[in-house]
Amino acid sequence: MDRSIKEVRGIGEVRARQLKALGIETVSDMLYFFPRRFEDRTRLTSIFEACDGDTVSVSAVATGAPQVSRPRKNFSITRQSFADESGVIDAVWFNNPYIKNMIRTGERYNLYGKIQAKYRKKEILTPAVSRGNDGLEIVPVYHLGSSLTQNALRQTVKECLEIARGHIPETIPEFTRKKYNIAEIEFSMQNIHFPEDKKAFEIARKRFVFEEFLELGLGLGLMRSEKKTDKTDAFKVFDDEGFLHRLNYKPTGAQERVMREIKNDLAKNTPMQRLVQGDVGCGKTVVAAYALYQAVKNGFQSVMMAPTEILASQHFETLSALFPDIYIIFLSGSLKASEKREALEKIKSGEGKIIVGTHALIQEGVEYNNLKLVITDEQHRFGVRQRSALSLKGGKPHTLVMSATPIPRTLSLILYGDLDISIIDELPPGRQKTDTFAIGSDKRDRAYGFVRKNLEQGMQAYVICPMVEDSEASELHSVQKHRGEIAKKYFSGFNVEFIHGKMKPSEKDEIMRRFVSGEIHVLVSTTIIEVGVNVPSANIMVIENAERFGLSQLHQLRGRVGRGTGKAYCILISDNRSDVTKERLKTMSETTDGFKISEKDLKLRGPGDFFGTRQHGLPELKIANIFEDMPVLKDAIEASKEILAKDGELTVFPSLKKRIQSLYKEEISF
Ligand code: ADP
Ligand code: MG
Repeated sequence: MDRSIKEVRGIGEVRARQLKALGIETVSDMLYFFPRRFEDRTRLTSIFEACDGDTVSVSAVATGAPQVSRPRKNFSITRQSFADESGVIDAVWFNNPYIKNMIRTGERYNLYGKIQAKYRKKEILTPAVSRGNDGLEIVPVYHLGSSLTQNALRQTVKECLEIARGHIPETIPEFTRKKYNIAEIEFSMQNIHFPEDKKAFEIARKRFVFEEFLELGLGLGLMRSEKKTDKTDAFKVFDDEGFLHRLNYKPTGAQERVMREIKNDLAKNTPMQRLVQGDVGCGKTVVAAYALYQAVKNGFQSVMMAPTEILASQHFETLSALFPDIYIIFLSGSLKASEKREALEKIKSGEGKIIVGTHALIQEGVEYNNLKLVITDEQHRFGVRQRSALSLKGGKPHTLVMSATPIPRTLSLILYGDLDISIIDELPPGRQKTDTFAIGSDKRDRAYGFVRKNLEQGMQAYVICPMVEDSEASELHSVQKHRGEIAKKYFSGFNVEFIHGKMKPSEKDEIMRRFVSGEIHVLVSTTIIEVGVNVPSANIMVIENAERFGLSQLHQLRGRVGRGTGKAYCILISDNRSDVTKERLKTMSETTDGFKISEKDLKLRGPGDFFGTRQHGLPELKIANIFEDMPVLKDAIEASKEILAKDGELTVFPSLKKRIQSLYKEEISF
């Protein structure tokens, strides 16, 4: 496998250079260079059945002599008629006059190519020609540069398979292959390139998909276990009753389970690394509060960081109400210099027990005192780097990350592979599904009339406008103008206000305070309202120009309503008729399940976009597709855990270890 490609028969200097350009230097490189797709030439079609645009195999007899014409200088067309029992067809080749030497009139050939049918005449364009059973194969097609031909590469792969036969190292342990029904390497390598049939190819492909995911799982698992050797202070005291007494409701089963998981983590002297995932409104805050409370009981300082000012101050309010007896500090960029100085002093002295805030928490000049717990809310808004910056400040504190981005579970295993995952998959009792309607702007009057009816019954509403452009002026313009319009046209007698991201924090707070108190009836907003905001008596949301929002974002926005016990509504207004928009709005109307929605989002956008700038620098997948191969991913991650449980250093799996070492040179030290 490690032999140089130059030693392979038929490979000279030129070919070797061409292969090197594709990253192929050894036999092993060549064999792990998988085909991009296949041409299935095994199924014969009759000429009669071959339709325009199809790419097919036909078996036919050459009739008459080949004809070569030269319509232009340096351009030739070769034409040859063939016939089978059902009809006749012309094979056409361009600039390949030598093909005529290969074909004898009266003999039968297999032709594989694309059909063009025009004016009752059928042609097969530049077909591959072969005789007997030779051409009736599944033929690999590789991703090539311009200088190599498919045939040349196929030949090289065949040679390499010959050389390596019997010596291809098996990287997947046998007990894993048995358990997950994974084919062995020799069979798979043969059939990933030259499959005996479709079934054999599927089996081979599954093996390599599994292998790729397994390596990913092992890499992440090993990274995590390196972190697990870090030490921190274990929590010794747990006062669950003291905490539960403070709530005016009973936690859901899911909340209780997650609190238990957190408790187990905190009781250890290895730092907790946990992600709590749960749909909007499932009640993640109280779970965070539970952890903060236990930190206080143990005499440790703790921090809760939120991505926006609004959310941070809301958490501050919630926690202050829950813990009137605990010194809680609020820290954000909007504090006055004197307030900030005081906050920093109280943090440093340890007088402040719980610190709530925004990014300001990780800026220079903040010194913590015995910080042992760090919670970040709505984690998807923070980069990984920020997450670790906060960890560093406290040495090695326990960390809890909360996210409402419902990523399909298996995917979060990958994305947050270095974290343990808890899921809150239950909503507090009494919540009703938010009824969602997608309408055109011709029904806008009716929609706002309906909103008005709700206001008359004492409810409140959000109206969301997209940001027209990324500029302060237009953001203001958009919400201000819309507020003016709807206030006059639909909401006389009600208090309509607007809020947007570029307002001063104190102004935003003031607006939010008045909305929470019920003084403002309709709040016109940009997406800053998206994350976390909790106003239970707001039961209706109108989203203007709904086509401008992604599916997950629409779901997040909608999560702002339906947080009380009353019936909630979401009205999506859009005149956009594109397929993607239609599909998005249909999904929104049909389901409120965040996990279903994120899967759909992933499907509509494709994984590249879905992860966007949040790409986590994982190795590139060559054959596996995270979305389509999700079931295999699940198995492989499970298998990686089993392997590491048996042998955390991979010493008894040397070939596997070698692969992982080469893939994760930078990240893992072993
Ligand atoms: P999210 O998970 O989106 O952050 P929150 O923590 O803001 O959700 O909770 C949403 C609302 O549900 C809050 O008003 C909270 O008080 C309430 N809540 C949370 N848990 C329960 C429960 N077990 N029973 C009743 N209400 C609850
Ligand atoms: Mg929240």
